[in-house]
Amino acid sequence: MRIPSSKLPALAILFSAAGLLCTQQLAQAQEAASPKPKPEDTEVWEPVPAVVTPGVNNTAPPSDAIVLFDGKNLDEWVAVRDKSPAKWIVNNGILDVDNSQGNIETKRTFKNYQLHLEWKIPTDVTGSGQGRGNSGVFLASTGPGDDGYELQVLDPYNNKTYVNGMAASIYKQSIPLVNPGRKPGEWQTYDIVWTAPAFNADSSLKTPAYVTVFFNGVLVQNHFELQGETRYIGKPFYKSYDAAPIKLQAHGGRTAPDSFRNIWVRELK
Ligand code: MG
Repeated sequence: MRIPSSKLPALAILFSAAGLLCTQQLAQAQEAASPKPKPEDTEVWEPVPAVVTPGVNNTAPPSDAIVLFDGKNLDEWVAVRDKSPAKWIVNNGILDVDNSQGNIETKRTFKNYQLHLEWKIPTDVTGSGQGRGNSGVFLASTGPGDDGYELQVLDPYNNKTYVNGMAASIYKQSIPLVNPGRKPGEWQTYDIVWTAPAFNADSSLKTPAYVTVFFNGVLVQNHFELQGETRYIGKPFYKSYDAAPIKLQAHGGRTAPDSFRNIWVRELK
């Protein structure tokens, strides 16, 4: 049979409609045959997270923390220069920097962790810029002196300096997002999440370090990717290590010392 060309568009519409009808029927049949999705399909029940008892407040150590300084002694710390017992001054539950003793670091070594500590610039601080209450938290101490990755401690209040070296900076690598620092004489908190760098067998970098920091509860470093160890002079670069102590800086200078208290860490996978 020969179909006049004038009828072809109408036929095309007819066949398309029939095809659509078949597709719809097929979908309905498939839906009827398969079970209806339930809320339970996407529930996960295991593994159950470990129970941790939180501290009495949000700055006190939770039950799974390693307490590095609880106000009593420096049993968890050694002098960086000769690994002898740390001799900074413990007084009334507070740890004061002793510049004559140099940097101190933990006896234990760490990879990834959550760290809490509190620090205070003395009320009678003098000096300016980097000379005003300078200390620091080395998130991994990879050698003598200031080798490692420094989160800066410095008077944050009306104290002009280069912004990648101000309080809560990753020294000369990352400017803090904001400055929530308090006045000298007031306690300040750092809450830190440190993801250690990883290295290949040939010492080349496998994955970089990342750090997140809350300063007095305010986010100041947001999963920042480090370019390597922090350096006073020159560009950062990575140096292979496995696990490392946490180090506190005795920067020197003539002003009254900075103080620390309530230091604890939780190791992370
Ligand atoms: Mg410093």
